[in-house]
Amino acid sequence: MKNVAVIGAGTMGNGIAHTFAQFDYRVQLIDVSQTALDRGIATITKNLDRMVAKGTISEVEKKATLSNITTYTNLEEGVEYASLVVEAATENLDLKLKIFKDLDKFCPDDTILASNTSSISITQIGAVTSRPEMVIGMHFMNPVPIMKLVEIIKGYNTSDVTYQTVRAISLKLNKVPVEVNDYPGFVANRILMPMINEAIETLYNNVAGVAEIDTVMKLGMAHPMGPLQLADFIGLDVCLSILKVMYDGFKNPKYAPCPLLVNMVMAGKLGIKSGEGFYDYSESKKAEKVAHMFS
Ligand code: NAD
Repeated sequence: MKNVAVIGAGTMGNGIAHTFAQFDYRVQLIDVSQTALDRGIATITKNLDRMVAKGTISEVEKKATLSNITTYTNLEEGVEYASLVVEAATENLDLKLKIFKDLDKFCPDDTILASNTSSISITQIGAVTSRPEMVIGMHFMNPVPIMKLVEIIKGYNTSDVTYQTVRAISLKLNKVPVEVNDYPGFVANRILMPMINEAIETLYNNVAGVAEIDTVMKLGMAHPMGPLQLADFIGLDVCLSILKVMYDGFKNPKYAPCPLLVNMVMAGKLGIKSGEGFYDYSESKKAEKVAHMFS
């Protein structure tokens, strides 16, 4: 398996393309936006430069990695020779279903179709294709070149052959694959999102302030980042949409998003990407200054 198409050149797509290319796969990086592709390649170059500076890879490996990546704005052209597609486009159900219908049409019959979705059902995605046994979740973590975990999500119809192939590829990427069945939130978000939601609820109930809640979890539980800082890093809109998927899927009130989270998303306070969430990022990307409304 040599050709891997990656759909979407955003936060996750460029990290996934970088990782496959670094491990000698030829990567076709596809995005509807040329600007996103240019930004994606710039990010990959910057991250490779950082790896060279740290001595993790050589200048020759950096050049080889970059030369393994070709960009496309046309899906049909980009997936023509793909043995595996990893879709990392915007988290939107209708968009993903449309992309998978197109992938099913344009990819060779034996191409495995994987999605990096955080919350959408792999079974539902597989059902719009004529090859649900070859549709699977490959849930990488951000930042992809650094984080070791890949949650491999088996949809209801995913075959064992597909699972074993994707598991072997993950190992080749020097990742640690974990097998997971297809239920809302999979494992990572099913456990992480209620914790983040509870941290927001703790703030909402005025039990403690932003810095205090994060300090308790950092120093008390040895988490590298507090849950509110982590929510800012992930994006509060992303956290809200994952909680909604779990709430809808399980119909259990324990997944109901905290009203403060809902308000912040409506107010456009999305975390690092909007410049403000629980912390203020106008001066520094580090979570040093608690946002005005919480201080
Ligand atoms: P992002 O917004 O940074 O990037 C999405 C990219 O998809 C954009 O560049 C956009 O132009 C492109 N796109 C939109 N429609 C497209 C189409 N039809 N064809 C090709 N490209 C298209 O999003 P992201 O944070 O990289 O998330 C991508 C996926 O990864 C989502 O499914 C998300 O749930 C999942 N995910 C995100 C994280 C995270 O921490 N950000 C972690 C794990 C999984």
